[in-house]
Amino acid sequence: MNNRLYGNLIFELSQEGRRGYSLPRNRFGSYEIPASMRRAEDAQLPECDEMTVVRHYTNLSANNFGVDNGFYPLGSCTMKYNPKINEEVAALPQFAALHPLQPKDTVRGAEAVCSLLCKSLCELTGLHAFTLKPFAGAHGELTGLMVIKGYHEHRGDMERRLVIVPDSAHGTNPASAAVCGLDIIEVKSLSDGTVDVEALQKLLSEHGPQIAAMMMTNPNTLGLFERQIPVIQKMVHEAGGLMYYDGANLNPMLGAARPGDMGFDVMHINLHKTFSTPHGGGGPGAGPVGVREGLEQFFPTVSPYHGNFAVAMRAYAYILSLGREHVKEVGPLATLNANYIKESLKDVYELPIEGLCKHEFVFDGLKDKSTGVTTMDVAKRLLDYGYHAPTIYFPLLFHESLMIEPTENESKETIDGFIQVMRQIAEEAKSDPEMVKSAPHNTPIGRVDDVLAAKHPIVTFRQMKDDK
Ligand SMILES: *Cc1c(COP(=O)(O)O)cnc(C)c1O
Repeated sequence: MNNRLYGNLIFELSQEGRRGYSLPRNRFGSYEIPASMRRAEDAQLPECDEMTVVRHYTNLSANNFGVDNGFYPLGSCTMKYNPKINEEVAALPQFAALHPLQPKDTVRGAEAVCSLLCKSLCELTGLHAFTLKPFAGAHGELTGLMVIKGYHEHRGDMERRLVIVPDSAHGTNPASAAVCGLDIIEVKSLSDGTVDVEALQKLLSEHGPQIAAMMMTNPNTLGLFERQIPVIQKMVHEAGGLMYYDGANLNPMLGAARPGDMGFDVMHINLHKTFSTPHGGGGPGAGPVGVREGLEQFFPTVSPYHGNFAVAMRAYAYILSLGREHVKEVGPLATLNANYIKESLKDVYELPIEGLCKHEFVFDGLKDKSTGVTTMDVAKRLLDYGYHAPTIYFPLLFHESLMIEPTENESKETIDGFIQVMRQIAEEAKSDPEMVKSAPHNTPIGRVDDVLAAKHPIVTFRQMKDDK
């Protein structure tokens, strides 16, 4: 491996006195930094020549896996379709070089992008107003819950501090409610994976006057459409609560159904999932929040300036490139792809909930449990075949969750290739379980000890000097 040749860390390649770059002459003359603000010793920085630096980082980047390398069927938080044209649009210097403190009359174009994007989001969701400020889905949830809290408090109704969250919800839902200072009550799912309306009725009759809101994800985290929404929203509203829609993964709904029409009051959308911003490594993102009429006065200030503008830029470019007509094709294609994989594999992988799914679905591990091969082993073996692993051990409803989302943009050939490899792994689990259990075998590093990594993370490089 190249990395072995060149070393794993740039510090290990350092040679005293090597230079790959000279700083330009200081245009501002010499200025003495006060001694109290200066280092006593030189910073320990790596010293390398140009080619060593270039090769080191190029080799490291080649070990990365992303949507540009191969199929990425990660469920829930997936990288959906990120057309390259949107990157170009977001990089246009007229937008990318703006400063948030520029005089208003020099940023009319950017303002127009933001207001037109909000207008499009209103139209797509059936809501009245959007704010683009939140930086992520979870940040949007917090913002939306602050709107709800503000609404209740404005009416002098200070008792409403409970948020109902289904047991299938994304972990950020209860976390955001807690950060907002609200308490959480969980409502169970039925065996078909959707919200248990009877259990909800019971919660509402016990806690009615304390209910601030109910959060729902639709399609839910199992990829299922919550059919009882009309009934649920009526019950929650009658109890005085508001309805919150987690629209992180809105792609199967685009142009097909609108949360506003379903009776939701507040929602967030993850632009970085549904509207094309690559977000590997945890960023960047944007979680715009939409509200029905009358609630916009409760939008809190949750970020400086205008949110992640470049993400909004990509989203608007994406919406324009699809247009009113083609935006409706996203959902059916995502749904078709997910159902095709599900039906093609359910004879070898355990499908706990039968029936039509939306953009994603969950297997509960391999069907044949006698081999001892777990979901973790299947995920690791997929890496050997050049595929990113699906989401594993989430949702928590099943022991061996394997959550697959193919997204709308993948070709039939790509999806068939994945199905074939998944079947192959199911075969290997029978014929050579030890080999699957010790996968991956073809990646730069083998199976990591994730417990050790979590308990004793080594996140800094010990300087050579300290070694002496
Ligand atoms: C990804 C996701 C979130 C959280 O979004 P972040 O941008 O990661 O904070 C919330 N809910 C659902 C259903 C999600 O898939």
